[in-house]
Amino acid sequence: MGNPMNTTIAGKQSCDNASNLLTVNEAKEKILDAIKPIERHEQVDIRSSLNRVLGEDIQSSINIPPYDNSAMDGYAVASSDLPDSGSCKLQLVGESFAGRPFEGEVKQGKCIRIMTGAMIPKGTNTVIMQEHVEREGKTITIPSGYKPGQNKRCAGEDMHIGQTVLTTGTVIGAAELGILASLGIAEIKVFRPIKVAFFSTGDELKDAGESLEEGQIYDSNRYTLYGMLHQMGVELLDLGIINDNREDIRKTFLSLTETESVDAIITTGGVSVGEADFIKDVLEEIGEINFWRVAIKPGKPLAIGSINNAFFFGLPGNPVSSMVTFYQFVQPALRRLAGESKTDNISFKVRCANELRKKPGRLEYQRGILQYDQDGNMVVSSSGAQGSHILTSMSNANCLIILPAECDGVKAGEYVEVQPFHGLI
Ligand code: AMP
Ligand code: MG
Repeated sequence: MGNPMNTTIAGKQSCDNASNLLTVNEAKEKILDAIKPIERHEQVDIRSSLNRVLGEDIQSSINIPPYDNSAMDGYAVASSDLPDSGSCKLQLVGESFAGRPFEGEVKQGKCIRIMTGAMIPKGTNTVIMQEHVEREGKTITIPSGYKPGQNKRCAGEDMHIGQTVLTTGTVIGAAELGILASLGIAEIKVFRPIKVAFFSTGDELKDAGESLEEGQIYDSNRYTLYGMLHQMGVELLDLGIINDNREDIRKTFLSLTETESVDAIITTGGVSVGEADFIKDVLEEIGEINFWRVAIKPGKPLAIGSINNAFFFGLPGNPVSSMVTFYQFVQPALRRLAGESKTDNISFKVRCANELRKKPGRLEYQRGILQYDQDGNMVVSSSGAQGSHILTSMSNANCLIILPAECDGVKAGEYVEVQPFHGLI
């Protein structure tokens, strides 16, 4: 198989010029354009397909509902018997229950007791709610004012024979499980989970549980990455902390792509210009690597590349920068790779409860808290200090506030765009 990167990513165009930053959208597009879904599928029973990506179009082979049925508990009548004014009396001649239909045809002047979901008997086409009639023995009195077909659910109204009801790339949720089950489908084809390896780089890093020496810090990025990747349902390979050692990094990359066949490799740290970084040298030798400067805050430097069939994402080391760049660039890329047809994150506009400071130039993702104000309107406010090393304001946040590159600050009460985390972070 060829290299997964197309020339727009792998090409040697230079973005290392301050006046020539890539916009966030350009960076997103370049990444997504280079990615095609994996072609590995498996057949699973529908329960096991929950949260997985559908690998085939699903056509309905039956009508749902399969037959005309009642939307109410009441009386099935022929609309030709219904009065234009006053009322009419019909004779009750049988019952139609869900799963136990009335057999035979209903003649003029007769009606049938019918329950919700029961088949509409032959000779009738309308259901009168039981609360709207008077019943005395076998005689039912119905007032005027009903329309033909009222309270009848028609065959095929939800899904009809031959209709494509779910398409390749749909993530199977509870409603989709219900659709599949209602069509009588027990097994479906889904994409296999993609395999993603990740590690941290940096000589200052120690893992939680180890003791720290002066000048060292604990590695938090591998844990935030673990959290975000785990939520996405990908297969994870956590390689720990890898020190800047050319031979170790080279061996790691080769074994990940040749033996483990991972689909993507994510690292954090060491992507700033001028940093002593062996990842760059190694990837230049055995794969492809491009260093991008994106007009984004936090997270300006980003390394994008490939090795064998795996994509490489080198995220900045600052804890919030790595989370934000993962959320904006890596997560949609992995979703596309995993077969998902929709990779956009939801965003919408709300009023900002407080002032936000910003300099024009880069698109900024500030951490925000979406909540209701005392009038019941949704507003967003800042979740605190916005430094790219302040992880607590990420934890306090439930959304990112997206401030366009040209924005030079926000006054309290102005509208801003927000992107809720909705379960990802
Ligand atoms: P770098 O991108 O390597 O220049 O790192 C930028 C900042 O992020 C430095 O303060 C690093 O110490 C810090 N950093 C890098 N990697 C990690 C990590 N895995 N966990 C926490 N902080 C990190
Ligand atoms: Mg570093």
